[in-house]
Amino acid sequence: MSDTLSFSQSIKSSAFVPRKSLGQNFLVDQRMIARMVRACEFSRSDTVLEIGPGQGALTFIILPQVQQIIAVETDARLAEQLILTQPPDKLKVIHKDFLKYDFSDLTPPLKLVGNLPYYISTPIMLRFLEQRKIFTDFHFTVQLEFGKRLVASPGTKDYSSLTCFVNYFTEPTLLFHIPNSAFRPAPKIKSCFMRLKVRPQPLVRVNDEPFFLNLVRLSFLQRRKMLINTLSSLNTRTQLTTAFEKASIPLNARAEELTVEQFGSLANQLTKLHSAGNKSESDTCLLMDG
Ligand code: SAM
Repeated sequence: MSDTLSFSQSIKSSAFVPRKSLGQNFLVDQRMIARMVRACEFSRSDTVLEIGPGQGALTFIILPQVQQIIAVETDARLAEQLILTQPPDKLKVIHKDFLKYDFSDLTPPLKLVGNLPYYISTPIMLRFLEQRKIFTDFHFTVQLEFGKRLVASPGTKDYSSLTCFVNYFTEPTLLFHIPNSAFRPAPKIKSCFMRLKVRPQPLVRVNDEPFFLNLVRLSFLQRRKMLINTLSSLNTRTQLTTAFEKASIPLNARAEELTVEQFGSLANQLTKLHSAGNKSESDTCLLMDG
């Protein structure tokens, strides 16, 4: 797939048939679009990376408010249309799958936006979290159920390892719901508009970040089981009991009940045990499980 397209490959927008397989539900409600763009609080010096600009519903409203938009679109027909409509200095259109797009040429800080193709919401989220250092924030439309997972509280069914990762690295806000009628074709599922603001420092201080992230991931593999049992392959029962007590976590706690801060304290207690020479053979498995 080439990153740029020639003018000769042009197609007429009237002939455009949306592809369901690419999550092509285009925003058509101008008031809703204006509300979403306002919520992003752009300034003239901003560089924006847009995921899936489509026919430019957000792009053309954002464009006069910022310095530059880099728009990554996987559908050649749409990428080409956008290239034809705008001088390339202000709007740079990249014909590429966002999940394969190489961020190394970009100059931070950037704002990330997108009316996401919902079929790849999770990989996009993980990519953003991995690359968070080049972004100040991420504003996006997403399936309401997915959005609720990102802001869920401990002890609720929506609370998951993804909730913990997102809250560890960012401050998530569910800004508002979007009616299905705001899109064409209208999706069957409900949508919302979200903001993730990248934290200057993660929510909790941990001694070993990869260990902490893998501990969270492993814990949620059996979210309703007593956590001390889920972690039984890591250390002896006595060591785990000591770590739980020092982290002020009840011995009968389940993964779905722990806050990010509690996971952080527990990870720190366990890494202290490991660095004190009590490392169990099975923590290698823990890292591989992730
Ligand atoms: N931003 C436009 C709007 O709001 O009307 C289009 C949004 S539509 C929900 C999702 C867009 O993402 C489509 O244009 C689709 O072709 C594009 N897309 C789908 N998968 C993609 C991917 N892997 N990388 C980049 N763009 C993708």
